[in-house]
Amino acid sequence: MVAQSYYSMVKAVWRWGSLTTPKPLYPRPLHPRFNSFSFSLFARLSSQSSYTEKQNLFLMGPPGAGKTTVGRIVGCRLGLPVIDVDDDILEVKWKMPVAEKLSELGSERFLEEEGKALSDFSAVGSVVSLTGSNPLHSGTMQQLKSCGVVVYLDVDTEDIMRRLSTMKVNRIVGQGPDVSMRDILRFRQHFYNQWFDTRVLCGSGDTADEVAEKVLQALRRYQDSESETFVSTRGCLSKGTESASDAKYFSDVVIEGLAPDGGLYVPNRGFPKLDACNWLRMLGMSYPERAATLLEKCIHPLDVPAAQLYRMVHKAYGENFVSPSIAPVRHLISNQYVQELFHGPTASFKDLALQLMPQLFAHCLPQMCNYLILVATSGDTGSAVLNGFSSLSDADRQRVGVLVFFPEDGVSEIQKRQMTSFGEGNARAVGVASDFDFCQRAIRQMFGESGLTGHLAVEYATMLSTANSINWARLLPQVVYHSSAYLDLVSDGVVQFGDPVDVCIPTGNFGNAMSAMYAKQMGIPIRKLICASNRNNVVADFIATGEYDLRGRPLVASHSPAIDILKSSNLERLLFHVSGRDSQLVRDLFSSLEKKQYFKVPGALLERIQHDILAGWCSEVECMAAIREVHLSTGYILDPHTAVAKVVADRLQDRTCPVVISSTAHHGKFAPAVLKALELQGPTGTPLDQLDRLTSFGSRPLAHNALLKCLRESGNRPHLVCPADISILAEQVETMIQESFCKVY
Ligand SMILES: *Cc1c(COP(=O)(O)O)cnc(C)c1O
Repeated sequence: MVAQSYYSMVKAVWRWGSLTTPKPLYPRPLHPRFNSFSFSLFARLSSQSSYTEKQNLFLMGPPGAGKTTVGRIVGCRLGLPVIDVDDDILEVKWKMPVAEKLSELGSERFLEEEGKALSDFSAVGSVVSLTGSNPLHSGTMQQLKSCGVVVYLDVDTEDIMRRLSTMKVNRIVGQGPDVSMRDILRFRQHFYNQWFDTRVLCGSGDTADEVAEKVLQALRRYQDSESETFVSTRGCLSKGTESASDAKYFSDVVIEGLAPDGGLYVPNRGFPKLDACNWLRMLGMSYPERAATLLEKCIHPLDVPAAQLYRMVHKAYGENFVSPSIAPVRHLISNQYVQELFHGPTASFKDLALQLMPQLFAHCLPQMCNYLILVATSGDTGSAVLNGFSSLSDADRQRVGVLVFFPEDGVSEIQKRQMTSFGEGNARAVGVASDFDFCQRAIRQMFGESGLTGHLAVEYATMLSTANSINWARLLPQVVYHSSAYLDLVSDGVVQFGDPVDVCIPTGNFGNAMSAMYAKQMGIPIRKLICASNRNNVVADFIATGEYDLRGRPLVASHSPAIDILKSSNLERLLFHVSGRDSQLVRDLFSSLEKKQYFKVPGALLERIQHDILAGWCSEVECMAAIREVHLSTGYILDPHTAVAKVVADRLQDRTCPVVISSTAHHGKFAPAVLKALELQGPTGTPLDQLDRLTSFGSRPLAHNALLKCLRESGNRPHLVCPADISILAEQVETMIQESFCKVY
């Protein structure tokens, strides 16, 4: 599309400018929104004045979607001429009905002729109803896309089948003796998904008028991109007073991560709320289709074009996941269900975000500028980030890389092997002879050192960035699996759409929990969010008392190390929303936390939190007992984090509705603790021996193949271990940049 290539151009121009003036660290690319020439058609939508339309509006979709009828209504509403490709172009040119031409030529030659017939398409400012087969011709579509916006009328295949049987359509292009209509429709969806600029999700009972209204809404959103901005939880500008030049868009917040004022970014207008019709349409969809549908509504197409987002999502949630359902929900016992979030390549729920986030990140970067992402990890994040970034396309890998620092003696053997299988290329892990805190401090110091960042920018056109769990692009993809869990329960007849469910989550940084709150904002009827802590129970205490108190509270190691966290960073987003976006309050609370290791929220605020959220915690003994008991009674093996949630759900959930327990890791990833819980002799032997022993039970869930494969292949791979010296870590940064990025002259 015109606007997009212009965007790339602007980004490129910005980038060359930045080479001579490498500061600040996070310069913002000019945004396509400041490029106004290509959207003149839509000026009409907001101000019915000028008549400078150059762009067309193309309606695309399967036969029977209503393109012709809807096109007439939309044309009438916008006061624009309407062109029906079948009636006004093809039949006029061929001087015979399209169906006749099809049976005369056969499908293949028909497509060719259809393409040729549009090669001299020159209309401007029209509403154009395409044929169902136009999108199969890529030359035609490229040409059309350059002179308009393509709106996809997305109708469920079964609806189309019904409609076609009542219409007189009995043959469509591509259909033959051994290819069914249904197969053809499915096949074509790939093409529709390749070409659309904006999607209109049509419900089973929608009238043409309703679809036309949705088309106008979709166009309005497409045009009105400037309102989808982000604000900082600590910002002074949260009341909509920001000027256009200060506005932060999706692309900006993905690259920046943390807001300059130390706050976290949240969407200024909250989340779009979907109606039941939209949710019901998603019942029959696969996980990636659900993800594309939901994320399209949360990411403006000018930040990430919807067709591109569709491709990213299908790459993120494909065969890299062991289970084709990606995040399946299983019945555990009585009213309890587990959502298995561990089928990704590194066996923890972090894959759900980190298989997608790097693609979003790479897309949002200014063209031809290199980025190196520095990550300090104490466990699951490291391998998930490495895996996500290493699967970027070749072109992206030459300019986006990730370097993980982990405490050599502070991660489990399995986690270490997962990370050290990445030793070269654009994703690397380096051990540090110190603890997690040191790794984190080292990274922070590198960011703050203008000598280093300036040097990297000038010499290698490389910026440093981070990918921690406060980044919006890590939180957003998680909204999808909470929504998907509910849709699965509806599909399976456990609940009717609209019935409430509770969700119980082992909580560390509150990212998983926060995304459940966002799913609720989008319209998923989550009644209570239940947060489960281990004995590092600062969050549970906070929800109970309103006091967040770190004083005299040392971090203690547990069997569920991923939630051994005291500063639960995403809680800041919760406080911002629940306080009615009171950024002053958020600033005060977190400055108090920094200075006094303590804050207390006002009583009214606490009440509102408690209305939505329950929280509890689980001791080490209870966690171990839960793993053992659940295995005895159901044959299912919980990982220790999931077990923490199970214990808290047993204690706090009132059993008046189903509860979905987030299973955030595969039990094999924490084999020593699980073996101990199952009271099978001590966890001896290599990690592989331990996994084999767990596998020998034949219990559910099955062994995690990617985990096994990683352990088999990694053996005792030697890896780099750096001394606890920040200048040596900085050298690693430069070495990696030299070795893995294209040098820019
Ligand atoms: C990261 C992690 C968590 C904590 O998730 P938050 O979003 O930080 O609350 C829980 N369980 C496992 C296995 C994890 O890796």
